[in-house]
Amino acid sequence: MTDPDRQVWDGMLAHLRVQHPEVCRQWFEELEPVGIAGGQFQLRALTVFHRDYLRERCTEAFNDALRSVTGALINVRFIGPEDPLLQSPGRRPKGENGAAAAARASGGAAGNDPDRHEIGGAGGAEARGSVGGTGIGGTHEAAGLSGHAPGGPLNGPLNGHVNGHMNGQAEAHGAGRVEFKPGMGGTRREDWHSRSAAGESRRHDSVLVNPDYSFENFIVGPGNRLAHAAAQAIATNPGRVYNPFFVHGGVGLGKTHLLQALCLRIAENYPGSVFYYTSCEGFVTQYIESVQRGQMSEFRHRFRDVDVLVIDDIHFLASRESSQEEFFHTFNALFNTQKQLILSSDAPPEEIPDLEERLVSRFKWGLVTKIDAPTYETRITIVKSKAKVRGLAMPDDVACYIAAKIDTNIRELEGAVVKLHIKSAVDCRDIDIAMARETLETDSPPPSGETTLQAIIGVVTEFYGVRLADLQSRGRQRSIALPRQVCMYLARRCTRHSLEEVGGFFGGRDHTTVMHAVDTIEKRRKAEGEFDALVRSFEERLRAPRVV
Ligand code: ADP
Ligand code: MG
Repeated sequence: MTDPDRQVWDGMLAHLRVQHPEVCRQWFEELEPVGIAGGQFQLRALTVFHRDYLRERCTEAFNDALRSVTGALINVRFIGPEDPLLQSPGRRPKGENGAAAAARASGGAAGNDPDRHEIGGAGGAEARGSVGGTGIGGTHEAAGLSGHAPGGPLNGPLNGHVNGHMNGQAEAHGAGRVEFKPGMGGTRREDWHSRSAAGESRRHDSVLVNPDYSFENFIVGPGNRLAHAAAQAIATNPGRVYNPFFVHGGVGLGKTHLLQALCLRIAENYPGSVFYYTSCEGFVTQYIESVQRGQMSEFRHRFRDVDVLVIDDIHFLASRESSQEEFFHTFNALFNTQKQLILSSDAPPEEIPDLEERLVSRFKWGLVTKIDAPTYETRITIVKSKAKVRGLAMPDDVACYIAAKIDTNIRELEGAVVKLHIKSAVDCRDIDIAMARETLETDSPPPSGETTLQAIIGVVTEFYGVRLADLQSRGRQRSIALPRQVCMYLARRCTRHSLEEVGGFFGGRDHTTVMHAVDTIEKRRKAEGEFDALVRSFEERLRAPRVV
């Protein structure tokens, strides 16, 4: 006897593996089909992180798989461990194929996935009081905290790198406030905010925490051992052991991964904790907008009434005087109340240019730790781990080949694994050394100073969290218009495509639109230091030699 929903799900998994290998993850096998209602095939995910990730990254592929397996125009609905199930009005007859029943009930219409709106909405009620006062002026003895600030050369030009996020989990202007429900078996810190058990919410602008970025998937080696050990200690006693926790290192060495692993683990250990996770750009942008709109108290509530504040790439705070002032107060407010601060940067505090001395010294109150490039052995293990996450068989000689070929940035290692994954799915062949040679050796970097439209789109969409389809659409919302203009600008600066070609590619626009985009971006670069640094970092990434 086989559960019909399970049969559909098994078929979907098979379809996904062949047709959408790039989205497949090993943990998909842990998804549970839990019935049909309202024209939706419901799949339950292990955690809210998995649920949110699926909703944002996998909806299209899953819908395609579902429709292909059932032949019906129905949608997938992802739910979290505690989300209520949608119930169909009438019980479906025992043994009937649920998907087929849903297709009939829905009259075959696909409709919009209501969950998409749910994600984009303002989120649920946040039942807690706000932290009053600014908390400024307290003197702190960083009792028991060992400041440790290794020197070492910078791993990249300051401000020049915005770390691309392979899986797009952190966006420049994105910011995430996430509350976690109890029920994951952790203990509760009574001195942290008391809040409604049901008060889990994600904001419209939230950063997506990637379930792949867990401690389990973080490979420890000589380059990151200290950072990893410290992160684990913090996860068991946040706000107490190392506060702030400041991780620095070059691009693609695992800072964001470690920050997210820490969030995932704290959430597990302390259900109900409130997190705010943002990039430094997000902090600065929100600060400027709040000042302009006169909404500073809302801004302060957002950043200070949390248990854990995570700011990725804090070096972007450089040369932003008023933002530094505000961040200083935010820091004090959280530190005074023993909330955990987690920061990452491309340089140690004292080497961040134009960072106020009082911030430099505060950043050193807790633990400053560096992540160095992985050794050859660590790189082999990372390649194997990346393959495992994707459910791929990776022979040892191929892992060694990749690890030897790519010796700098871990993101590039993962890129090579992704490339082989797709190749093996398309050719229906297992990965072997011949395939690796053929696939990775033929890659030649674009001529220096020149790149491809595809590479530009890759960098921009990854950063802004938009899709190519959005860029090519008629949509003019700011969230799409800005990345589209950045793409057009980069295409004109870094490729030989004509105005007409660029306009045509981005949704059949004419050459004047491209000229306008170039002009707009140039003006904004001149006017705004951060934005200028961001675009420069895109240019640098596009010109850096790479494997994929
Ligand atoms: P950074 O923020 O330092 O630029 P990321 O955290 O975005 O780097 O890491 C880039 C990629 O490398 C991610 O896919 C991440 O999972 C992977 N990565 C980095 N360090 C490790 C590690 N120690 N183990 C496994 N994967 C890693
Ligand atoms: Mg990063």
